[in-house]
Amino acid sequence: MSLSNCSLPVLGFAAFSGTGKTTLLEKLIPQLVESGVRIAMVKHAHHEFDVDKSGKDSYRLRKAGASQMLISSRSRNALMTETPEEEYTLNQLLSRLDQNRADLVLVEGFKHESFPKIELRREELAKQWLHKEDKNIIAIACDSDPKSDLPALDINDVPAMCAFILRWMEGHKAQTTTCDSLSPTMLSVDAGREKILAAIDEPIASEIHSLESLSGKVLSEDVIAPVNVPSSTNSAMDGFAIRSDDLDRDSYQIVGEVYAGHGLGIPLQKGECVRIMTGAPVPEGADTVVMREQAAMDGDLVMFDTRKGAIRPGQNVRQAGEDLKKGVAVFNAGTRLNAASVGMMASLGFNQAKCYKPLTVALFSTGDEVQAPGTPAKESCIYDANRFTVRSMLENLGCRIIDLGIIEDSEQALTDTLTTAMEKADVVISSGGVSVGDADYIKNVLDALGDINFWRVNMRPGRPLAFGKLGNTPFFGLPGNPVAVMVTFLQFVEPAIRKMQGDVNWQPQHFSAVTREKIRSRFGRTEYTRGIYSISANGQIEVRSTGSQGSGILRSMHEANCLIEVSPEVESAEVGDRVNIIPLVSRL
Ligand code: AMP
Ligand code: MG
Repeated sequence: MSLSNCSLPVLGFAAFSGTGKTTLLEKLIPQLVESGVRIAMVKHAHHEFDVDKSGKDSYRLRKAGASQMLISSRSRNALMTETPEEEYTLNQLLSRLDQNRADLVLVEGFKHESFPKIELRREELAKQWLHKEDKNIIAIACDSDPKSDLPALDINDVPAMCAFILRWMEGHKAQTTTCDSLSPTMLSVDAGREKILAAIDEPIASEIHSLESLSGKVLSEDVIAPVNVPSSTNSAMDGFAIRSDDLDRDSYQIVGEVYAGHGLGIPLQKGECVRIMTGAPVPEGADTVVMREQAAMDGDLVMFDTRKGAIRPGQNVRQAGEDLKKGVAVFNAGTRLNAASVGMMASLGFNQAKCYKPLTVALFSTGDEVQAPGTPAKESCIYDANRFTVRSMLENLGCRIIDLGIIEDSEQALTDTLTTAMEKADVVISSGGVSVGDADYIKNVLDALGDINFWRVNMRPGRPLAFGKLGNTPFFGLPGNPVAVMVTFLQFVEPAIRKMQGDVNWQPQHFSAVTREKIRSRFGRTEYTRGIYSISANGQIEVRSTGSQGSGILRSMHEANCLIEVSPEVESAEVGDRVNIIPLVSRL
């Protein structure tokens, strides 16, 4: 059992009835609230409990057959759901809380479920101790000697209990950010990524790039608007420009026409209007445009609906600088430019910008069984897929590629290849040859040329990973299996590449979805299942797997639009559980 549906700390109170659980919570909760902790409570009750009152409208509607009853007033709302089949588990119930509005979930009851609890005991009841049976008890609040190594609290000292809970919450926060403790011989995904990022330098070299080649580049200096965009106040419609201090007239005299790119040249007087086109500068004096469709013409006179409110002063006019004001900081260094930002650079009149130098990445595959596509198929060989998946992901990130091909399984070939690669490239990436069973010479060569660590990351797919430096050049030795290569790239290589590119704002996207399928995992390991997410008819994001999940089944990556990430604390995700998903759109 795990509480995978809740990212908040969940703490229960275990006691025999008569201990005064609710009375104690009534004193404890105000102190926690006072310390800034927002509390959500989950309480178990007798199966006949009903918050509704017999005879009330909501009660009558439920009895009439509404299996969900959501009732709301200005002060509160309540969802009453009939659960005729199985009773909800604590985990299922937790998913129904609004976790953005609480910091701590306190639980009364659910004593057979496994989650952290404080045992409450009063000597006068002469009951047995619960911590002897329940491994989930983290502390004991009582009024006698518990004879236990667990932290002991005085059940009558509410401030001390409050302080204990606050400390425990801090520990909970620290625990959810690192999970190395689960499997000390292996590296967690987060710890691996942190180690890599700590070893990677930010870029220094920059160069001028022309406007045409800016898309995907990362700015190396701030951009300040040299001009207003738009440069002049102009019309947003085809119509007639008038003065807002002159709205109540029966008719206006047309004194001219202004087209985009041309001015009227003279100020507009009261009683006058000009015919104006979209994008044309609004003449001096004028500040309001009436659409052509709302005007009636009679010779050189034009009439509008001038009833009060029909024309708003300033309507249909774009102010100079309303998009970008001269002198404002438009982009900071570290911004990766895309279609919109390249367009903004153009609007500001720039035909070039200073960006970090694109990275050059050297790439090769290893393995005697690996064969180049386009060559006749040999027996027991496989075509090289990895060089092309990695290449494509690198190109997507704007990298230049040095393709070193497939390196035969020999010490000399590998030494020569790596020596060239580390000289010519900013990053070197290989695939295959880093698993336990692989030839030792690879490790020997890497050790001779640099400082490389061979990691076992507690993830699937993608356990083996070599990372280090060849001289000053970062080297990634990715696994051999094609899916493992891609997942490892996304989790470790892409963040590193982006840091080297100076892309300071990037964070991988992830969000939460409800799984429609049981997602297998294992305690102590991060599992990346290839998934397909969609929006259900009622607007919920739901996800299912792509089917077979072998780390050699590259089709699973093609069919997926996300990775389903099941964290090491979770044994497996059940139907209806919330899981973290990492969208793949724009990353492959
Ligand atoms: P390795 O880590 O070298 O033991 O490789 C693990 C698995 O991935 C083996 O089944 C290899 O045949 C396969 N593999 C290695 N390199 C490639 C590649 N470039 N393209 C496709 N499959 C590969
Ligand atoms: Mg191999």
